[in-house]
Amino acid sequence: MSDKPMKTATKIVSLGREKKYSKGVINPPVFRASTIVFDTMEEMRHAAKNKHNGEMFYGRRGTPTHFGFQAAIAELEGGAGTALYPSGAAAISASLLAFLQAGDHLLMVDSVYEPTRDLCDKVLKGYGIETTYYDPLIGAGIEALIRPNTRVLFVESPGSITMEVQDVPTLARIAHEHGLVVILDNTWASPINSRPFELGVDVSIQAATKYIVGHSDVMMGTATASPQYWDKLREHSYLLGQTTSPDDVYLAARGLRTLGVRMAQHEKNALAVANWLKTRPEVDHLRHPAFEECPGHEFFKRDFSGSNGLFSFVLKRGTVDAVTAMVEGMSHFKMGFSWGGFESLILGVTGIHNIRSATRWDSSKPLIRVHIGLEDPEDLIEDLSAGFVRFNEVMAKETQG
Ligand SMILES: *Cc1c(COP(=O)(O)O)cnc(C)c1O
Repeated sequence: MSDKPMKTATKIVSLGREKKYSKGVINPPVFRASTIVFDTMEEMRHAAKNKHNGEMFYGRRGTPTHFGFQAAIAELEGGAGTALYPSGAAAISASLLAFLQAGDHLLMVDSVYEPTRDLCDKVLKGYGIETTYYDPLIGAGIEALIRPNTRVLFVESPGSITMEVQDVPTLARIAHEHGLVVILDNTWASPINSRPFELGVDVSIQAATKYIVGHSDVMMGTATASPQYWDKLREHSYLLGQTTSPDDVYLAARGLRTLGVRMAQHEKNALAVANWLKTRPEVDHLRHPAFEECPGHEFFKRDFSGSNGLFSFVLKRGTVDAVTAMVEGMSHFKMGFSWGGFESLILGVTGIHNIRSATRWDSSKPLIRVHIGLEDPEDLIEDLSAGFVRFNEVMAKETQG
């Protein structure tokens, strides 16, 4: 075997399928286990000593099904190790709880995934952990918000719904000058479109539910840490009882094998749809990181190697009824939240101003979020085009009335 580093596409196909995980079949099989049994005391001692090193010791610590998938994600993300969780939300809460305790202060990006915001406001607050939200485009201005008790800087880039791309290297550099742990929700990039640890991140989270699983049928989260923080993240997650079913891990690992080709096609299809949307008179601007009009586009160009199927667009004007007429009548786009599968999704998002506190959002202009799936983009454009006809019919009636 050559020692030359593998290219990403090769890694996606090959990592975590070594014989020690797969036992010689192509996909590492499903090992179901609570109890691991030992013949001798010596064997038990050996397993205990090597329980973080590929030896089975206790069901909750994982089996070769888990170990292979963990090794693949750790290497793709570029960290020292990966912990698995039953959802992306669990990966976020366990990562925060590993590095925060009562009396600590957390800096949280204002455009964060809404349930993460709710976790801060409804759960962490009760544990005595205070959160300050910051503008995703704050850059070096983050320094002024750091307090003596600030322990964690949380970034999500691009942000949920409004898609602001953050200057992660600048934020991480300043955070590290003050001894903070930098946690990134890296779900949008997936493990292949950014190099989080090279950008200075300490913990990188994936809602594997999205593009890694890729088929909208499994919930899973991963958190990958740098060598400095891996032991702490792993042990805290273990003590919080975080574990995943080997059946789910099997499906996630199977999804991973096609991540490269799926992402390339999602990106291509989404760019075709986005470019068409740009020509529409109803559209004010796109919130797609690959387009200059998206806030933080320059950081996208610098820090990402590609985009995917998820983006938003803002309309110049529009009533709730008009947006409803558009999104309810689609043929190919379905209404739903959890993206990253092969299918297209559409959402008319209202009330964004209610989930922003460090920045302002003008909710008078409707925002529509789409996930562009693997259908033919011509069919999707036709679908959206018919949607605009319904939208304009309602708008015309309302202005007459
Ligand atoms: C979906 C999502 C999550 C949550 O993942 P679940 O597996 O649904 O819990 C977290 N962060 C981002 C950015 C997401 O899009």
